[in-house]
Amino acid sequence: AKTWILKQHFEGFPKDSDLELKLEQLPEPKDGEVLLEAVFLSVDPYMRPYSRVRMQPGDVMIGTQVAKVIQSKNPAFPEGSHVVGQCGWRTHTISDGTGLTQVLSDWPQDVPLSLALGGIGMPGLTALYGLEEVLAIKPGETVLVNAAAGAVGSVVGQIAKLKGCKVVGSAGSDAKVAFLKELGFDYVFNYKTVPSLEKALKEASPEGYECYFENVGGQFFTVALSQMKQRGRIAVCGGISLYNDKEPQTGPFPHLHVIFKELRMEGFLVWRWQHKNEESLRRLLTWLKEGKLQCKEHVTVGFENMPAAFKGMLQGENTGKAIVKV
Ligand code: NDP
Repeated sequence: AKTWILKQHFEGFPKDSDLELKLEQLPEPKDGEVLLEAVFLSVDPYMRPYSRVRMQPGDVMIGTQVAKVIQSKNPAFPEGSHVVGQCGWRTHTISDGTGLTQVLSDWPQDVPLSLALGGIGMPGLTALYGLEEVLAIKPGETVLVNAAAGAVGSVVGQIAKLKGCKVVGSAGSDAKVAFLKELGFDYVFNYKTVPSLEKALKEASPEGYECYFENVGGQFFTVALSQMKQRGRIAVCGGISLYNDKEPQTGPFPHLHVIFKELRMEGFLVWRWQHKNEESLRRLLTWLKEGKLQCKEHVTVGFENMPAAFKGMLQGENTGKAIVKV
C-alpha cells in the first residue's frame, strides 16, 4: 500500500516537502475486517485547517475516498462492492467498517462513482443543507455564493435556481465565469479582475441580497455584508482565503453592518444533518438523472499526484470537484 504522510505541519501554503510518499505492508484482514482498494480520492479545502488541529507529523493525510472492497471478512461490505470511506490518502486500507458507507445501492451504472465524493457526496450535501437548513431560501430571493465554480458553490447555485431564486456567483477566472453562466447563474463575476468588489455586487443585485452562502472569508466577506438586505441571512460554510494564513486574521469584524442590517449569521458543518444523508443523496441523484443538476469534476490521474492536486485545488485550478483517480 502507498500512503501520503504529513511530514511536518504546513506553514502558509503547503509545500511538497511537507508531505512524503511511503510504502506500507498491510496484514491480512481479520474477522470483521475488509481490504479496500482506492479508486478515487478527494482533495478538499478542509484538509488544510484540519491538518493543523487533527493531525500530528507522521500521520497519514486525512481524506475520503471511493474504494472497492477487494477482500471481505465483514458481511456488511461484500467483495466487489464500493464504499465511501474516511481512509486518508492511502491506496489500500484494512478497515473494520468504521467510517465506511456503502455507495447507494441503486447507484446508476452510467453515473461515475467519483461523484460520491462530489455533487452526490459531501460537497453536494453541504450545498443542500446550507441552503435548506441554514438559509431556508425561498423562491424569489437573491442568493449570493462565492467560490461559486467549485464543488460546493456550483451545486449551491444550481439548487438555488431550482428553488426559484436569483443567483449571483463569484469565481476566480473568466473560464469559470462562463461555466457558471452555462449552469444558469443569473449574474457571475471574476472577483480577481473586477475593479471593485462592492461595485460588482451592487451591479449584480442593486437591491441587495437576502441570502449569502459564504465560502471564502476575508475581504469578500466584509464587502458582501455591506450589500445584504435588511434581516439578510448568512450561512458561513467556509473561509478558503484564510486557510493558508500563518497567523489568524484579527481584522475588525464588520459589526455595524450586522447590527444595522439586523443580519442573522450561522456557521455550520455538513455532519449536523447526517441522519438525513441517504434521503438527501437520493434527491441529489434524482436531480442529476433529470438533467437538473450538473456535477463537473476536475480529475488528476495518479496517486503520486495527490499533493499537486491538493495544492492546485487550493489555488483554484479546479472547476467543479477536485478528484484524484488512482
Ligand atoms: P472548491 O471546489 O470550491 O475549491 C476551492 C476553490 O476556492 C478554488 O477552486 C478557488 O476558486 C477558491 N479559492 C481559493 N483561494 C481563494 C481565495 N483566496 N479567495 C477566493 N476564492 C479562493 O472547494 P469546495 O467546494 O470543496 O469547498 C468550498 C468551501 O466550502 C471551502 O471554504 C470549504 O472549506 C467549505 N466547506 C465547508 C463544509 C462545511 O461542512 N462547513 C463542507 C465542505 C466544504 P477560484 O478560482 O474561484 O478562486
